[in-house]
Amino acid sequence: MDLKVDLQGKVAVVTGGAGVLCSSMAKALAENGARVAVLDLSGEGAAKVADEINASGGTAVGLKVDVLNKASLEEAKDTIVAQFGTVDILINGAGGNSPRATTGPDQSFFDLTPEGIQQVFNLNFMGTVLPTQVFGKIMVERNKGVIINISSMAAYTPLTRTIAYSAAKAAISNFTQWMAVHFNQEYSKEIRVNAIAPGFLLTEQNRYLLTDAATGLPTERGKNILNSTPMGRYGAPEELLGAVLFLCSDAASFVNGAVIPVDGAFSAFSGV
Ligand code: NAD
Repeated sequence: MDLKVDLQGKVAVVTGGAGVLCSSMAKALAENGARVAVLDLSGEGAAKVADEINASGGTAVGLKVDVLNKASLEEAKDTIVAQFGTVDILINGAGGNSPRATTGPDQSFFDLTPEGIQQVFNLNFMGTVLPTQVFGKIMVERNKGVIINISSMAAYTPLTRTIAYSAAKAAISNFTQWMAVHFNQEYSKEIRVNAIAPGFLLTEQNRYLLTDAATGLPTERGKNILNSTPMGRYGAPEELLGAVLFLCSDAASFVNGAVIPVDGAFSAFSGV
């Protein structure tokens, strides 16, 4: 996919940057001229993505960071500012679900522990709020900046089983709007906060759930998803990049507080 925006001179921070979706976002930002700080709980994973970017002519640094630990984020901020000078773009990508916060045949709603629910809620919600506090402060000082959060289809209507993930993603969409307004009213008219809400993407992580390994045909869950997606297919991680690059660029200079679905019309379809 040949996507071109001008991010020359910009510095981007991508949390969860070692993961499937955010590593491809980090690479796309670098290909379009940004210097990129890849932050991840997996220091090794972050370093690998940064190495790949550097090897292909971009500029990146990989840092081990826990988005739930403010001291860890502050330390990363100091390193990034020392190395790249500032931060223009923040992608809050760290997130995900856990079996500890998922109902099923072996774990009813009544069995879920407070710790399991909090773990997933905090990773997604607080893991978006805390980096926004740390890197947003630089944007306030400079009177400009772009933040992109990663919401989900689970934010619009909760998905079955994933209680805390659904609640946290709804909170992220709400926070995206709140933060956009708050920055503009209290600090700067030049800071934009938006989110993308990916639909169902087929990745190595969920392929076994959605596709029968032997036949390549959709599983029951896979069929449900495809029947609920009017475009009749899964998205590919690269298909998120157009929206991400657009939101980072000056082409989106009046787009603020938006949550953009990239979902093959999943969220538009009532099922009838
Ligand atoms: P992924 O598991 O591949 O990547 C998540 C990354 O976050 C991992 O590299 C992990 O090490 C890192 N991480 C976890 N806890 C962390 C912490 N405390 N501090 C720093 N990093 C931490 O997941 P993905 O599929 O690429 O998802 C990325 C984002 O997109 C998540 O927010 C996810 O909820 C969201 N999302 C994914 C899909 C999908 O279909 N894959 C759909 C909608 C939304």
